[in-house]
Amino acid sequence: PLEIIIPFEEENGDLNEEEMKISNLKLFIDTIGNDIWYFIFGIVTAFISSWVGLQIPKVFGKLIDNTKSGASLREPAIHAVLILFAQASLNFIYSTLISVACERYSSNLRGLLFKSILEQEVAFFDQNSTGDLINRLSSDVQLVRSALKHSVSLGVKSLGQIIGGVFSLILISPKLSLGMLVILPGMVTVGSVYAKWLKSLSVRSQRAQAKSTAVANEAISNIRTVVAFSNQSLETEKFNEKNKESEKLSTESGIQIGLFQGITTMALNSVSLLVYWYGGLLVSRGEITGGELTSFIIHTMNMQSSFSQLSILFTQVMHALGGMSRITELINRQPRISNKNGKILPNLRGEIKFDKVEFYYPTRSQSTVLKDFSLHLNAGQIVALAGASGGGKSTVVSLLERFYDVTKGNILIDGIPIREIDPKWLRSQIGIVSQEPTLFSCSILENLKYGAPDATMEQIIEATKLANAHQFIEAFPNGYDTVVGERGCSLSGGQKQRIAIARAILKNPRIIILDEATSALDSENEQMVQEALYNLMKGRTTIIIAHRLSTVQNADSIAVLSKGRVVEYGNHQQLMKEKGIYYQLVKRQLSLG
Ligand code: ADP
Repeated sequence: PLEIIIPFEEENGDLNEEEMKISNLKLFIDTIGNDIWYFIFGIVTAFISSWVGLQIPKVFGKLIDNTKSGASLREPAIHAVLILFAQASLNFIYSTLISVACERYSSNLRGLLFKSILEQEVAFFDQNSTGDLINRLSSDVQLVRSALKHSVSLGVKSLGQIIGGVFSLILISPKLSLGMLVILPGMVTVGSVYAKWLKSLSVRSQRAQAKSTAVANEAISNIRTVVAFSNQSLETEKFNEKNKESEKLSTESGIQIGLFQGITTMALNSVSLLVYWYGGLLVSRGEITGGELTSFIIHTMNMQSSFSQLSILFTQVMHALGGMSRITELINRQPRISNKNGKILPNLRGEIKFDKVEFYYPTRSQSTVLKDFSLHLNAGQIVALAGASGGGKSTVVSLLERFYDVTKGNILIDGIPIREIDPKWLRSQIGIVSQEPTLFSCSILENLKYGAPDATMEQIIEATKLANAHQFIEAFPNGYDTVVGERGCSLSGGQKQRIAIARAILKNPRIIILDEATSALDSENEQMVQEALYNLMKGRTTIIIAHRLSTVQNADSIAVLSKGRVVEYGNHQQLMKEKGIYYQLVKRQLSLG
């Protein structure tokens, strides 16, 4: 079986090398589409160019023979100039055609790959690191692009030169050719065995490199945490360790490739020497002319450089095939949660029922997070989830958004099992305001429109007013066009939350998920945010993930989670009277706060 980067091995277990080749090819043909004609014309032109190139040794031989015999040089000289011009133009044409085709192909491939990555279910991202996925999008596509470009241009040309060369050699002197052709096949066999081994080495070195990129990616994307813990040197060490591993394997692979090339060159040169010696013998016997020997030698030299080009190309293509397989797998991967034939509920009320739900994360199948979890929310009801951290509150919400599928039990929306509903549509009916809202690094306006691309300016202002955000947005010099710094850095926590609330209001969902802030806002901001939240929740079914218990007192009911199920249920007063887990949590927070 083909070697594939680790996380996909299980999924690819049933594809053998042949099947993988076929699906690579199928994807290639699908992706290239009509641009295949550029390739075909490019290949044809490259073949013609190498055929024209084959005339050069012949003309040179003629020049030499004519010099010797005193015949006119005019005709072969003009011939030579014409050939050189023709070859230059053909080279220009085929490399342009192939460049255009390769660039289009790789950009299509990258687009497809990105689309496919974004379509995957959330569990997929638990299993695959960002660095690894980004690597596929950048280096793997790059590998495929350059290998394709070189194999169609250089590869075709070299191949044409070798095939044509063989014919030319036989035409010039069958005896001399025969001598040469006896040695070559043996060399090719040894070479290809060695090359196969080189391939496995390069796959290992690519893997190691992907690992070091993943470390870098994690550290850079979590730079604040790294700096806060002053752990730059620890991260550098981790990176260096992976980097060293990759260096070791890449160096080994480089040395081996060097050795491979050295040996190939030596072998081919020895063949040339034999040709010179034997050819000289034939000339002295008068069996061939000096010009013919010259053209024979030029042919063998051309063929030799074509062979070494092919061998370099071979390693490159092997690299690229590894990359291509990883890309194909990902593009062909069917998301485990998709919206094929999903239902849409036109008059969604927003009733939610968790019915004896059991759930564990696909990456941690041995630890059950929810067990026999049941909860019922009437349409428009506000229910807060409370309980110790790690108790599964966020998990409940992830299930409602169908980021994951339950392992047992059922979730019903308006009485319809969640699995029967189109997940994209369902998510469009859910608004989320989280404690660390994600804003994209574009203008505030674009951020607001993220969930409602068709919203008019009036609707937007109406929403920002309800979210207490209009005033401060307008106060910025660029107003709604203010560009939010990366991850929303230039806005205060409260402002970000209010923009996120406006974004949720604009989406006009039936269900709201509120991931209550763990960090306290200052009291003015807090009040603004509370007001905005009140406007958002009005008339909508709301689940609050209560980390700080500050908003739960406004909830209609509170469900206390422990060990994966609801252990207490009621409003604030009732639960305080019960003096159970909830009471303890509130008491602890009061003493801390
Ligand atoms: P809470 O929101 O109540 O703090 P969570 O729902 O975040 O609790 O977590 C419940 C359990 O599930 C914890 O043990 C946590 O480690 C685990 N968990 C959360 N997210 C994931 C994930 N993506 N993959 C694996 N385990 C997870």
